[in-house]
Amino acid sequence: ARPIRLAVNLHRYGEGRTLILSRDVTAVEQAEAMRRDFVANVSHEIRTPLTVLTGFVETLQTLPLEVSERAHYLNLMAQQASRMQGVVSDLLTLSRLEGSPPPGRSESVPVAQLMTQGEQEGQALSTVLGRKHTLVFPETETLGNAALLGASQELRSALSNLVGNAIRYTPAGGTITVTWTVLDGREPGRGAAGEGELAVRDSGPGIASEHIPRLTERFYRVDRSRSRETGGTGLGLAIVKHVMQRHGGRLRIASQPGAGSTFALVFPPMRVRSEAPVVAGK
Ligand code: ADP
Repeated sequence: ARPIRLAVNLHRYGEGRTLILSRDVTAVEQAEAMRRDFVANVSHEIRTPLTVLTGFVETLQTLPLEVSERAHYLNLMAQQASRMQGVVSDLLTLSRLEGSPPPGRSESVPVAQLMTQGEQEGQALSTVLGRKHTLVFPETETLGNAALLGASQELRSALSNLVGNAIRYTPAGGTITVTWTVLDGREPGRGAAGEGELAVRDSGPGIASEHIPRLTERFYRVDRSRSRETGGTGLGLAIVKHVMQRHGGRLRIASQPGAGSTFALVFPPMRVRSEAPVVAGK
């Protein structure tokens, strides 16, 4: 049994009569505690780069520096500013997702289009990080007319977060493989028949099981410094989780230390339009 918190009010009425009203406020208090944690986290995430930034400004103001040294400091300042920008922009995305009704099914987003865009972004990020990964995406023809019914911008950002993470956490020379599958429901734990799965698998370090359930919490990171080094805000998977909830789907995470990770977007059949590629002669 878990303890609950009760709010109790006593009302006197009539002669010697008392009405006792009690309300279970456990959920209210939990929500309040979460809100406080969240505000504390946001403040911390913004204050840290701001402190560094202010320090550099003072350095530039007080020390007579060579041109090359100035450039070095300005570079570091730009990094901190862009970190803050990243956090604020992800927070805005989250709050927009929370505040708007779930997307309808009128927009049809070709899986091939999502893949092409994911691959381009992935290549660009891998090049920026100088890691020479191998990216394996499905050939466009094999995807036929497969499409997802939902908000294209949200779907793009979900895939781009997963591809981005795979690249950021996978060391140089690693492989990232992206697949599209309409599930047949026969593989235990993967999903039900007719669900559509967009999966991103990497050959990275993998994640210990105790962290997995917490990865979609805002600002939860397994390794703080590795996340920051590559421009992580700690909000990417929280955004992905929201997008999937809004589409009636879910995020499936399978990972083991040393064996890489798979992050899969699983969509319910009502969001999946799968037409097999047209085969000549049939
Ligand atoms: P971040 O901006 O820190 O990457 P995310 O919400 O995207 O934030 O991810 C949360 C944490 O999950 C990361 O800090 C990292 O520890 C872990 N993680 C996410 N994707 C991977 C991956 N492909 N391989 C290993 N760890 C990962």
